[in-house]
Amino acid sequence: MSDNSTDVVVIGGGPAGALSAYQLAKQGHSVVLLEREEFPRFHIGESLLPYMMGLFDRIGIREAVETKGYVPKFGGEFIDPNEEKFFSDVFRADFSKQGDGRYDRAFQVERAKFDGMLVEEAGKAGAEVHLGATVGELLMEGDRMVGVRYTKDGQEHEVRSRYVVDASGRAGRVAHKFGLRERLEKLRMVAVFRHYEGLDEKHNLGVEGDIQVGAHADGWVWAIPLSKDVISVGTVMPRDVFRASTPEEVFEEHKARIPRIVARLTDTRPTMDLKVETDYCYHSDTVTGPGWVMVGDAGCFGDPMFSGGVLVASATAVRAAETLSDALNNPEDADRLIDEYANFFKTGYDTYIRLIHAFYDGELVAVAADAGRTTDRETLERYLIRLIGGDFWSEHNAVAQEMRRRTEWDTFSPFQRV
Ligand code: FAD
Repeated sequence: MSDNSTDVVVIGGGPAGALSAYQLAKQGHSVVLLEREEFPRFHIGESLLPYMMGLFDRIGIREAVETKGYVPKFGGEFIDPNEEKFFSDVFRADFSKQGDGRYDRAFQVERAKFDGMLVEEAGKAGAEVHLGATVGELLMEGDRMVGVRYTKDGQEHEVRSRYVVDASGRAGRVAHKFGLRERLEKLRMVAVFRHYEGLDEKHNLGVEGDIQVGAHADGWVWAIPLSKDVISVGTVMPRDVFRASTPEEVFEEHKARIPRIVARLTDTRPTMDLKVETDYCYHSDTVTGPGWVMVGDAGCFGDPMFSGGVLVASATAVRAAETLSDALNNPEDADRLIDEYANFFKTGYDTYIRLIHAFYDGELVAVAADAGRTTDRETLERYLIRLIGGDFWSEHNAVAQEMRRRTEWDTFSPFQRV
């Protein structure tokens, strides 16, 4: 066994892990990132929100992202033939309508490339990156986490650290160790998806580059262009609907319910077998502890509707890195700083999950109408599109404020919002 010691060890090299490591390294701390897979590897989560661009700008990697040829996304098309879940049969969230100089675009990305790029940026910033390194035991001294053991190339290693960042996504290394993970019982969803090649956007009845989200009585369907030629298509449904037939049948049948997506797929061919993801909706009420913090999916995930996963994961990761940097420099303030981080984490996920509940409960239109009582239509649309763009932390967004009044959508026990 070889030993090592560092300021921070990060478990996982998805967007949350890569960005935590990047930001800590940029602030002059020693950081070791351990990712169990070799890259590139497939990952779902392909549509980004415009608030990501602000985050990338702030931490100095927007240019790196913009030059990689990802598909620019200027809006989202929400399709609802019955006009029960969205605002009209076809509602376009046009990001240029957010106002106040907000970013008018995001990107749709193939995660195999995107995650690889972020890990590379972390390495360039000075993080020590190990791919193919699986974290096993979490090392404790009393109730404090003091590092991890990991296996790479069949050899066991130990790395000791002042803090551990758990960015292990759904694997939730810390949540499982302490029994902290709870299901979101109202969201027991399943996603069935795959990529198609042969895309030609001339068949798109909407705007080139947009994500399409089509609602129907038993769930919803996404279409996300990943390059000029390739598009990702997914169907999301409650568990019981999924169990009633085969994945192939349910996927084809649900896809056929959204003619605007079917039209966009004209002359395309699948490039992979169907993939299925289940049980991805959960949270932990405790997201920090002595010597450790959770970031991203390691602590919580709601549902892919509204494409917020990578944003909340990345924003919590950057915030955690900045918090730990301050805590390392000012140990006497560490507890207060880490409590503030926990509130930041919960505020972001709480808002995102409320938006998801509003959709599934068919309440989005009602929430917006209630918010509209205190503001004019144009401002309301701006707030709504900002929220769909990732404005999860704003205290001033009238639609978010309205959603926060609904106690039936509480996810975390009461906390102090940032
Ligand atoms: P991950 O990206 O999951 O990264 C965790 C990493 O930790 C992985 O690379 C894993 O290999 C590694 N790891 C795990 N265990 C260990 C271990 N023991 N040792 C070392 N490494 C380990 N989000 C969006 O923004 N847009 C979308 O369109 C979207 N669509 C989605 C569709 C579906 C069906 C689902 C389920 C999710 C979707 N998401 C979407 C959510 C998105 O995938 C996640 O929120 C995002 O990937 C979270 O990033 P993360 O870094 O926290 O976790």
